[in-house]
Amino acid sequence: MTRSQELFEQAKQTIPGGVNSPVRAFNGVGGTPRFIEKADGAYITDADGQQYIDYVGSWGPMILGHNHPAILNAVVETAKNGLSFGAPTSLEVEMAERVCNWLPAVDQVRMVSSGTEATMSAIRLARGYTNRDKILKFEGNYHGHADCLLVKAGSGLLTFGQPNSPGIPADFAKHTLTAVYNDLDSVKAMFEEVGSEIACIILEPVAGNMNCIPPVEGFLEGLREICDQYGALLIIDEVMTGFRVAKGCAHGHYGVKPDLVTLGKVIGGGMPVGAFGGSKEVMQHISPVGGVYQAGTLSGNPVAMAAGLAQLNELDKDGVYEALSAKTETVAKGFKAAADKHGIPMSINYVGGMFGFFFTELEKVTRFDQVTECDMDTFKAFYHGMLEAGIYLAPSAFEASFLSLAHSDDDIARTLEVADKVLAEIAAN
Ligand code: PMP
Repeated sequence: MTRSQELFEQAKQTIPGGVNSPVRAFNGVGGTPRFIEKADGAYITDADGQQYIDYVGSWGPMILGHNHPAILNAVVETAKNGLSFGAPTSLEVEMAERVCNWLPAVDQVRMVSSGTEATMSAIRLARGYTNRDKILKFEGNYHGHADCLLVKAGSGLLTFGQPNSPGIPADFAKHTLTAVYNDLDSVKAMFEEVGSEIACIILEPVAGNMNCIPPVEGFLEGLREICDQYGALLIIDEVMTGFRVAKGCAHGHYGVKPDLVTLGKVIGGGMPVGAFGGSKEVMQHISPVGGVYQAGTLSGNPVAMAAGLAQLNELDKDGVYEALSAKTETVAKGFKAAADKHGIPMSINYVGGMFGFFFTELEKVTRFDQVTECDMDTFKAFYHGMLEAGIYLAPSAFEASFLSLAHSDDDIARTLEVADKVLAEIAAN
């Protein structure tokens, strides 16, 4: 038995499923999750001492690689002054100014402690601001686990939400409409039906929770137009993409102005952080200036703010995003070239520091239903082949993979060498 296997068995006694967040249990790929002992740069090391080149990066935030000295130093130095005060600090002001300076759509921002809190609060604000109850999300987009967001589409043109999880009263989910990502007509149909009751559209500007699916041309612009036409707010959920796809986030990259933006992960540098922001007019509806209640004991935690600011300082340097994009492109194209070489159908998507690969005959994957039709057996075989050889990819065909600035040319070359070998073995079987 490996140490990870031992720990997994032990963990299952006292933690449901042995994990504190479901995807970590390797349900999507089978086998034993690796218990991680430490990480440095592009590498993580498990409890058995096996080192991996990491393409998960804590699901996005480790954009500089693990253990970056600037972040580590900021955390240690800030912690020396105390861990939490439940009172305002100058670090929060600095973080708010940084976010507002970098994102023209954001005049004011409120810090929270997770992406779930960010989206939950943004939706409450959109409902309070518009005085409407319904919200529209997209099937396959994940925005955290607030009750009204754990809803996926059934069939039919106008699909009123059915809860996706026991424990959510149908009454809580019935105001959630679900449309098809990258299909404007599915959105228009709902707005034609009940547009005056819809408070907001919420979406991932590059979907990263159904593998990696960028928006098709005109999709984001079309959503902006529909929102303007019906007086609904456009919430762009950048929890995964924010400051990873580009310095101006994904909405800046694609040139679309949101009413509210939600952020997370990257602005915490690995510490628990989220945020939501928008125009002053909308944000002034938040308590204590406005009536929409929102709060958090640990919100704007000084150590988390310091870590996030240190990370953003590094991301402000010249050429950072160009370098990250180039690394990502090399990996994604390398996977595709290896698959082609061995006659295995594969399609790839990549943007900024995130990428996805799909075992499919389709040239381009743009929709959720296409992801569900991909060859999951080949994905699992590829995943485990890579893992055994020291390459740690996202353990699910429904998650994007992530690059960091710490991934060297040698790391990438090694990754592609392994991919070539694993795909050759799959082709031979
Ligand atoms: N929104 C998006 C787009 C996400 O990817 C996630 C989590 N991966 C969340 C919200 C929820 O964030 P958290 O897990 O920090 O609650």
